[in-house]
Amino acid sequence: MREFCSLPQAVAALKRGELVAIPTETVYGLGGVALWPGTVARIFEVKGRPTFDPLIVHVPTLDAVDEIVSSFPPAARSLATHFWPGPLTLVLPKAAQIPDLVTAGLPSVAVRIPAHPFARELLERLALPVAAPSANLFGRVSPTTAAHVADQLGDQLDWILDGGPCSVGVESTVVSFAEAGVPCLLRPGGISLEALEAVIGPVNWPQPITSEHPAVAQLAPGTLPQHYAPLTTISLGDLSQTIPPGKIGALAFQSCPRPERFAVVEILSPLGDLAEAAAQLFAAMRRLDCAGLDAIIAERVPDYGLGRAINDRLTRAAWNR
Ligand code: AMP
Ligand code: MG
Repeated sequence: MREFCSLPQAVAALKRGELVAIPTETVYGLGGVALWPGTVARIFEVKGRPTFDPLIVHVPTLDAVDEIVSSFPPAARSLATHFWPGPLTLVLPKAAQIPDLVTAGLPSVAVRIPAHPFARELLERLALPVAAPSANLFGRVSPTTAAHVADQLGDQLDWILDGGPCSVGVESTVVSFAEAGVPCLLRPGGISLEALEAVIGPVNWPQPITSEHPAVAQLAPGTLPQHYAPLTTISLGDLSQTIPPGKIGALAFQSCPRPERFAVVEILSPLGDLAEAAAQLFAAMRRLDCAGLDAIIAERVPDYGLGRAINDRLTRAAWNR
């Protein structure tokens, strides 16, 4: 890592084709100018991300979206006007100027207008689209503070722009309009399915991943069944049940029964607020991962609103363990 930088330094570095870790309201992104294949290639290299996993392109305005897509259906436009800037990504037919590397060869591009004031200011000053996956090593826990980014990618990264802790804390909701017909939810995230459907009516959600339905993970490129994973073994379970011997950590929603049985307990939201739980999730997973535990047991949260995004991340973190 060179250093933490100011916003003008970040803009200048991006213009030189360098990579900058950028704060957004979802998680920190590993950003580079989306129009330059050499820069985009470095994003994949630094993250260790397979090139079949397409990147989200970040822009400051609806006019800038129009420049990188070849069509923008009315329902997608309604979602855009309701939820942008914000934690929603729309997959739309791409314009020719977006390199194939960004979209993993797909004819569609994922686009988002982020809400974080630093991200918005940076994109406005830069006036170029920025491709940015989460600023973590591929498959690992996403960063929600600048320190998380420095810990994991510091050696390979040019610059980090510190914008404080991420307010939403889970990735954006991804909705595809790539095919005609009913829009499809590719990833639950910071905007709930209920909120989307209140605006545009039914949204198709292919069965969420379960051990019985691993194949569904292939529906959306990059939505791999194992993802968001700490290095410590994590499993989903009922925290009131008997736990295995050893140093075990608990990841609980509101409270943990008989906490003295656990070496470490992380509570996501004592008041049972799903938005607070989402904002705490990845930092809590990292703290548990650093605690020298033999295993982590996590409980699922209520499966509505932001709870769906949290359960999706927990299921992927625990996949195949
Ligand atoms: P990340 O950058 O890690 O937040 O992940 C971005 C996710 O957006 C990918 O893993 C895909 O699920 C989705 N995505 C990005 N581009 C496309 C696309 N062109 N078509 C479908 N899904 C996409
Ligand atoms: Mg990611």
